[in-house]
Amino acid sequence: MLSPFQKTIQKEVIFEGVGLHSGLETNVKVLPASENYGITFKRTDVSENNIVIPNIFNVSSAIFCTTISNEHGVSVSTIEHLMGALYGIGIDNALIEIDNQEVPILDGSAKLFVEAINNVGINDSNLPIKVIKIENKIEFKDGKKTITIEPSKISLDIDFELKYENELIGTQRNSINVYESDLTDIYNSRTFCLYEDIEKLKEMGLAKGGSLDNAIVVKGNEVLNENSLRNKKEFVNHKILDCMGDLYLAGYKIIGKIVCSQGGHKLTNQLLRKVFENKENFSLFEITGKNLPQAFVNKNHLRSIA
Ligand SMILES: [Zn+2]
Repeated sequence: MLSPFQKTIQKEVIFEGVGLHSGLETNVKVLPASENYGITFKRTDVSENNIVIPNIFNVSSAIFCTTISNEHGVSVSTIEHLMGALYGIGIDNALIEIDNQEVPILDGSAKLFVEAINNVGINDSNLPIKVIKIENKIEFKDGKKTITIEPSKISLDIDFELKYENELIGTQRNSINVYESDLTDIYNSRTFCLYEDIEKLKEMGLAKGGSLDNAIVVKGNEVLNENSLRNKKEFVNHKILDCMGDLYLAGYKIIGKIVCSQGGHKLTNQLLRKVFENKENFSLFEITGKNLPQAFVNKNHLRSIA
């Protein structure tokens, strides 16, 4: 449920592991932050100009993963699963310290991020959140790939479809309401690739840290990982997780409806850039008692305000 109050984590959470593409061992500390701080990355291995803001205009690459860079060229990559977890749980303010260039891939999903953050607990403030409300329908196309965002009353809906020639993946479609649905399957869904693409990725200098411990590998009609899939729509569910993480680079939670076919990090970023090009496409407002639609928030919170 979407809470009207800004949240942070109770205390720091630490993750360590290998970066999927860089293969580098990295430590990440997610720390509580004060109201109106937002989400910020800090590269602790870099002595100056080490703050990198996860914002759509700071996305320097969105091929295979989302990389953000500041104006000094300091970057953090593969931020999307952690950002998706923060969005889903509803963390508005956090400082993320990282001692290398890439967020660890862990098990390839957002499961461990979500579990660790829920374990330490979440702190509510009494300051209202701000939300971005989409006012116009915007579309972005790239060949067969399409994505649209349109107004919705009170929710963020994501309807995603993927189409693969591979018979095991095939066509998968799922839709969720980010603030109302049970997101467990979304958080738990792992990144994936086709066996025949691994060589190509390695030649491009990518997937150096990739293994069956952090990615689903599909060969023909077979999943090479020992325990097969975690849920029936794991492939498309992972794409929805990516989409949530990439949407959080808007800076605030969104009220709107996304429909995407065969998209990914780049398409989501291009769509958001198009939305924010024109101020008429969106409004930014603070959730207060007056403008709060009843169904928008957790009813318990409403009672506590009253
Ligand atoms: Zn992903």
